[in-house]
Amino acid sequence: MASNTLAAPRPLIAGNWKMNGTLQAGLAELGLMSDRIKATRGLPEIVVCPPATLLHPVVLGLAAFGIAQAVGVGGQDCHANPKGAHTGDIAAESLRDIGCSHVIVGHSERRADHGETDEAVRAKAVAGHRAGLVAIVCIGETLAERDGGQTLDVVSRQLAGSVPDAATAANTVVAYEPVWAIGTGRTPTAEQVAEVHARLRADLVARFADGASFRLLYGGSVKASNAAELMAVANVDGALVGGASLTAQDFWPIIEAKAAR
Ligand code: PEP
Repeated sequence: MASNTLAAPRPLIAGNWKMNGTLQAGLAELGLMSDRIKATRGLPEIVVCPPATLLHPVVLGLAAFGIAQAVGVGGQDCHANPKGAHTGDIAAESLRDIGCSHVIVGHSERRADHGETDEAVRAKAVAGHRAGLVAIVCIGETLAERDGGQTLDVVSRQLAGSVPDAATAANTVVAYEPVWAIGTGRTPTAEQVAEVHARLRADLVARFADGASFRLLYGGSVKASNAAELMAVANVDGALVGGASLTAQDFWPIIEAKAAR
C-alpha cells in the first residue's frame, strides 16, 4: 500500500576524539570494532572525527579493515576559505582531498577557545558544503543560560545564525550539545532533550523544505549507560560522542543503541 509518510532519517553516531588519541591506539580501537560493524545489520551511519594528524591514517585504516563504506571520517573544524595564508588552519577542500566525508563546525570548545561566532560557524559550514562535506553544526546553551530559562531562545538563535540558508538534510546535521553536559558526566533529562529537539525540528521545518529530514544529534556525556534512553527521545536521530568514542568498549554500545531492531 502506498504511504505518504516520509522515511525517518537514517541515524548517525559520530565520535569526536578531540585532541586525544595516538595513531596506534586509534587504529587499534577501530580494528576492534571492524568485525562487529561488518556482522551487524541495521547499523546507524558511523563517523569518527580524529585530530587532524590522524585523519589520513584513519581513512586508510578504515579501508584496510574493510569498513570504509560503514564509517566516515570527519574533521573537527575547517577554515572558511579554500586556501591561503592561514597558518595552522585546514581548508574543507583539504579534508575532502584526503577522504573525509564530514566536518564538525561550531563545537562549543571552538566557540569558547577561539571566539567563534554564529556567523563564523555558518561560513565554515558553507565551506564544508563547497568542498562536498557534510557539516555537523553544533549548538547548545551554557549552564547560566539554562538556569536563566533562555535555552530555547539560545538554541533557536544559534540554529538560525549557524546553519546556512542553502543547507539541506543531505549536507547538514545539527548537533544539540548543552555546554554544561560536555565532558561533565551530567546530562539533561529525556524531557529536556525532547523539548529542545522539538523546537529545533520546528525551526528546521519552518525554514527548509526538507527540514523534517535533517538529522538532529544529541551530544554531551553520552555513554553506554544512558545511550538507550537518550537515543529513544523523539527527534533524536543519533549522537555526537566525545569521551566515550575513544575506545571500542565504550563506543560500540552507543552505536548499537541506535541500530534498527
Ligand atoms: C563532544 O565533545 O562533542 C562531547 C559530546 O563530549 P562528551 O561526550 O565527552 O561529553
